[in-house]
Amino acid sequence: MDRANPVARHCSSQPLWLLAELTYRCPLHCAFCYNPLDFAQLDDELDTATWLDVITQARELGAAQIGFSGGEPLLRDDLETLVEHARRLGFYTNLITSGVGLNETRIEALKRAGLDHIQLSFQDSSREMNDFLSSTRTFELKQRVAKLIKAHGYPMVLNCVLHRYNLPHVAQIIDMAIEMGAEYLELANTQYYGWAMLNRAQLMPTHEQLVEAEATVNRYREQHGNRCRILFVVPDYFESRPKACMNGWGSVFLGVGADGAALPCHAARLLPGLALPNVRDATLASIWHESAAFNAFRGDTWMREPCRSCDERHHDHGGCRCQAYLLTGDAAAADPVCAKSSAHGEIEKAVEFARAPMRERDVQPIVFRSRSESLRLASAAGHIAGAED
Ligand code: SF4
Ligand code: SF4
Repeated sequence: MDRANPVARHCSSQPLWLLAELTYRCPLHCAFCYNPLDFAQLDDELDTATWLDVITQARELGAAQIGFSGGEPLLRDDLETLVEHARRLGFYTNLITSGVGLNETRIEALKRAGLDHIQLSFQDSSREMNDFLSSTRTFELKQRVAKLIKAHGYPMVLNCVLHRYNLPHVAQIIDMAIEMGAEYLELANTQYYGWAMLNRAQLMPTHEQLVEAEATVNRYREQHGNRCRILFVVPDYFESRPKACMNGWGSVFLGVGADGAALPCHAARLLPGLALPNVRDATLASIWHESAAFNAFRGDTWMREPCRSCDERHHDHGGCRCQAYLLTGDAAAADPVCAKSSAHGEIEKAVEFARAPMRERDVQPIVFRSRSESLRLASAAGHIAGAED
């Protein structure tokens, strides 16, 4: 890595948020996982020294928050070392975990290292659905971990990804969160990338399910006030304007994958022709300011119509590049979530398809995230030769 080169600054922004995807290994097999479909090929993980250096560089660039994520970040036995380093540099540190691997010893070590915040995911409020959706037996373990988090004085932050299977249980999920003493509950409707896109026909809810779930959330908010703050993130397939994805490409978000790839957004690997720089080969400063990947969709000069002349372009930045590519084959197109997009019909079709009862629809069974499925899919897509199954 060459740090001697002066950096020709091509943009004045700085990353605020570093997402460190420490590993793509995970004991769970969630049907909606946002990890890349070919994660099994990305197993050449950065070592501790490189992560320490990446964290230092990100702080020098101006990042203030760091998320340790994955896969399951607790599978890395250097997690405490990385947290301690980030904390010492002044980062606000978050652990985003399924809970598997968080025991008394590790939470004490993480506390000593200065970890600020833990976000624990559940798949549903019942053992049956939690375990079905993650294809594991982890419900009781997660309940124990929730108690552990509370006992160590952390704010309890639960996360549950919502879709067709668990939207009818939103009341029970909120009850569970309140019973556990959660201060925050994030109910995040599925975004369709990675494994969720593969399983979209199975996971897409009906409009009625969403309306009912949102009404339930509002009822609980009225009853319980701020005792448990509930964030309900509406799925953009049901909107007529896209989200301001990543608050604009190369604007505030910097992800680093387990293999060292620098990511302008979580799903950027799926964009063809986007040569992702790697922290093994270049400094974060040069990646952020100079790389073709981070400049590809910065600002608005890359936009086509209808975005180019749209007066909302500085608000939503044309939506999500990955969604545009997935649904139109063109990463520079308007996000089809937008009613002004000529491809908006693709979104309407998917929503309409979800209206029919599951038994009347010819859809493939759920594909759960696993190493063997990842290798099979990569092989089918021609990413690798002779993949095992
Ligand atoms: S979504 Fe599920 S499978 Fe994917 S990384 Fe998170 S816990 Fe693991
Ligand atoms: S046309 Fe483009 S910029 Fe305008 S609202 Fe739609 S996505 Fe946003």
